[in-house]
Amino acid sequence: MTPYDDSPAQAVLAPPRLIDGFGRAVTYLRVSVTDRCDLRCLYCMSEHMTFLPKAEVLTLEELDRLATAFVGLGVRKLRLTGGEPLVRKGFMDLVAGLSRHLRSGALDELTLTTNGTQLERFAGDLARCGVRRINVSLDTLKPDLFRKLTRGGDLERVIAGIDAALAAGIRVKINAVALKHDNAAELPALIQWAHARGCDITLIETMPLGEVDQDRTDQFLSLKDVRRDLSSFWTIEDIHHATGGPARYTRVAETGGRLGLITPLSNHFCDTCNRVRLTCTGTLHTCLGRDDASDLRAVIRGGATEAQLQQAIFAAIGAKSQGHDFQIAAARPAVARHMSTTGG
Ligand code: SAM
Ligand code: SF4
Repeated sequence: MTPYDDSPAQAVLAPPRLIDGFGRAVTYLRVSVTDRCDLRCLYCMSEHMTFLPKAEVLTLEELDRLATAFVGLGVRKLRLTGGEPLVRKGFMDLVAGLSRHLRSGALDELTLTTNGTQLERFAGDLARCGVRRINVSLDTLKPDLFRKLTRGGDLERVIAGIDAALAAGIRVKINAVALKHDNAAELPALIQWAHARGCDITLIETMPLGEVDQDRTDQFLSLKDVRRDLSSFWTIEDIHHATGGPARYTRVAETGGRLGLITPLSNHFCDTCNRVRLTCTGTLHTCLGRDDASDLRAVIRGGATEAQLQQAIFAAIGAKSQGHDFQIAAARPAVARHMSTTGG
């Protein structure tokens, strides 16, 4: 691994400087480091995806520069995602470089969201770079269903990856998309499995992002209904557990574990939104559910100074929308871009 010591913007401990027009401080940046993935989840990608030409994707140095600029403006939490972050060549160099902001105290947390297929190989390096928690996406514990939902994935590798991360001292949160026909009946078993390993688990409603091959309306499962069903045999208590994310947390008394519920469709969480997203092409989206976009790649490839880059970031944050308005019933996706481009 070659940590980058020559970054153009050295981050120092900074108070939040990114305050949007509604008084919300932006302290959380998600960065998609690639649009590519080794899986093809049904709700995320179409079977034959056309991936971006390499020249359009930010280099590792550009990713570092942009992330560092945000850290310099008061972002305290950085999540690397994709596509699948662990399939990006040189990904561990990027993590090692960004970890300097943990050591300097400018960043509270450097984390990632991964499908876990490559985790067994990288868990030790991630832990050594200061990664303390990660999210691993896992919708089922049935090998055949996993293969179907991911179009070919191997469940055993993901479980081996989760175990390797835990063994390396990294806390794992499982993310599962709730799918009416595919995993609704299995959710209690999945929750029990996660809690037995000491992992939190968050359930996510399907969101209408990007064109995929199937009808998502058909798979939509309201987490209000899931919670009601789980409450018929478990004691589910609301708890205050702030992760800087949009999940509302509960504790399942019988398992002792935490259960998060992300309900973008049946419940808005926009008033406390503290996050923005940077795509692997350097486009900044300040709201997951809107088509707003600022092209930061053009800014840096145009030779911008740090001050000019900061101005471009301020302008984008100033225009952050008050909230989103997803409609699962809408025939078209709310926004055309895929989750794999924006980053989950
Ligand atoms: N490949 C990594 C993974 O799967 O964890 C990171 C990127 S993935 C796009 C991030 C998260 O988005 C995953 O938890 C995935 O389940 C979720 N996701 C993808 N498409 C979605 C959709 N249409 N609705 C809800 N969640 C979605
Ligand atoms: Fe890949 Fe993650 Fe999308 Fe699945 S959800 S296709 S693992 S990017």
